[in-house]
Amino acid sequence: MALLRARGLAVTEQRLAIFAALAASRDHPTAEQLFLAVREKLPNLSLATVYKNLEALRAAGAVSDVNTLHEQGRYEAALPGTGAGRPHHHLVCVSCKKVIDLHDARLDALRVSPQETQGFEVRAVRVQVEGICPACRARAKGPSGSRKPVSRR
Ligand SMILES: [Zn+2]
Ligand SMILES: [Zn+2]
Repeated sequence: MALLRARGLAVTEQRLAIFAALAASRDHPTAEQLFLAVREKLPNLSLATVYKNLEALRAAGAVSDVNTLHEQGRYEAALPGTGAGRPHHHLVCVSCKKVIDLHDARLDALRVSPQETQGFEVRAVRVQVEGICPACRARAKGPSGSRKPVSRR
């Protein structure tokens, strides 16, 4: 794929399949989820290969890792000129750990004051909005509308 070559990456069948699966997804999958999806096409694929390729793609800027509350990293393709490549923010459900893209021009305009950045050259400001998604809110209410105590970690 031209995008990968332009970023100086060797294009192998595995790398292409991993990137294509990520580009087709807006779910911010984990490496394991990508592995399971791509293995259907490439049965010889190993999880270690997925990690290695994700790291190479990330280093080349073709893939972003999404930092969330997750124990496991989540990934997304960085595609110039598409919604996926536009800088964006994330809504994260603290209950089910779902990650949803959030586009908000006012958040895009956020600037960190130079006094606070301690010499950092700021490349991007990404906001993670944490909350409870509609599905989890409905579940917490329960079918009868009676609130059950939700256990918190
Ligand atoms: Zn949720
Ligand atoms: Zn995203």
